[in-house]
Amino acid sequence: MTSCASDTQASPETSQIVPLSRKPASSEAFVSRPENTGKTACIRTFGCQMNVHDSDRMRRMILDAGYSEVQTYEEADLVILNTCYVRENAVNRIKGHLGELGRLKREGRVKKVALTGCIGASEESRELERQYAIDLVLGTHNTYELAEFVGLPTMQETHTPELPGTIGEHSAFVTIMTGCNYQCSYCVVPSVRGRMICRPLENIVEEIERLVEGGTSYITLLGQTVDAWREKGKRFCDLLERVSEVAPRVWFTTSHPSNMEDRTLRLIGERENIVKRLHLPVQSGSDRMLKIMHRGYKSDRYRRKVEVFRKEVPDGTLSTDIIVGHPQETEEDHRETLRLIEDCGFDSAYVFKFSPRRGTEAIKMEGAVPEDVVQKRFMEVLRSIERNAFERNQKKIGSEEEIYIRHPRNDEGVAIGETWSGHAVHVNTNASPGDYVRARIDSAGPHVLYARNSA
Ligand code: SF4
Repeated sequence: MTSCASDTQASPETSQIVPLSRKPASSEAFVSRPENTGKTACIRTFGCQMNVHDSDRMRRMILDAGYSEVQTYEEADLVILNTCYVRENAVNRIKGHLGELGRLKREGRVKKVALTGCIGASEESRELERQYAIDLVLGTHNTYELAEFVGLPTMQETHTPELPGTIGEHSAFVTIMTGCNYQCSYCVVPSVRGRMICRPLENIVEEIERLVEGGTSYITLLGQTVDAWREKGKRFCDLLERVSEVAPRVWFTTSHPSNMEDRTLRLIGERENIVKRLHLPVQSGSDRMLKIMHRGYKSDRYRRKVEVFRKEVPDGTLSTDIIVGHPQETEEDHRETLRLIEDCGFDSAYVFKFSPRRGTEAIKMEGAVPEDVVQKRFMEVLRSIERNAFERNQKKIGSEEEIYIRHPRNDEGVAIGETWSGHAVHVNTNASPGDYVRARIDSAGPHVLYARNSA
């Protein structure tokens, strides 16, 4: 695993994840699509859930413009690389894709290439434009300009922040804020996504109502620091409460410990339809490192938040992000992190080795930690997290759970679902995504529970 600079939960490259917006026929009622023009487009998404969501928006634009979506470069007239900048070698990886696309362009297969997302917003994009045959470069703020590029009448008609996401899908991401007002030493988000902008509450709720009417049952509120959301005296807790009155199932990510209010934690425990999983990135257990990173809180504050969460949401799951080997991290700092892991008993964590990113403060910092030391610390953190998670998951064995199916059964007959407490479950069932099944947990590993469908 490599370094992540953002608090947005960093998933593996999302090109490996089941696409979110393959729209069923029922969604066509909401959008008047032109006749199929015979043109094809392939969107390749890298990085976090914000990028998945941005890709959904772009997907709507290309479908509106009469393209059909294809899965391989060879079949595509237009290829959109929606990129992530937070991983080590991110730019090199994209160069590999651009090289391949250059070859396909020369052979007359691919006609246009668009580079979007965080690399599109970065300085490197200029160099990439010079080196490769790229037809359009967009950052994270102006993805709407893709509309004009694919021949939609005007930008304004499609540039609607309230653009419905994935109507007809069982689950959808709804962006409630973009950007970030923090300045964490290692993070590119403030420079590529800008300062925080919050969407108005009514606008968010209207979008969710439309999604729910269209069949969506699971809403994930999305933002770099969702719990920093504000509007006219209203705070994130007010928004979450309101959304929970409209959506059948709600979750949110990612939170910042400085913004997380006790009343939000209480609300998670009180409302049955809020998924009882909190993703609260801590990054380090050392106050010294938290200060160097400019995280804005001390480890005791974090521990107190976790205490409140465990009290208010006794059945909930807690996940976090941890960066190992940030410049100037000492062995004692690392020990502090291990202590915090023991104290908090995380159910899961994204553990990242520090990776210097251009445009961040940390790239200029002295005191780099040698690679072999980083590797050793990384393994220690990982083992500690997994040990805790395994012990906690073992306690679920024998319980009967209501499981929300997220991904349909595979060839072995196993579907992937999620309990209300936020545990991932592999369950034998024919149920479709969006359905609930009841099942008994038979066994558990550190990352996942296993169940037979008892429905
Ligand atoms: S709080 Fe903001 S600056 Fe800090 S890691 Fe998260 S997104 Fe980056």
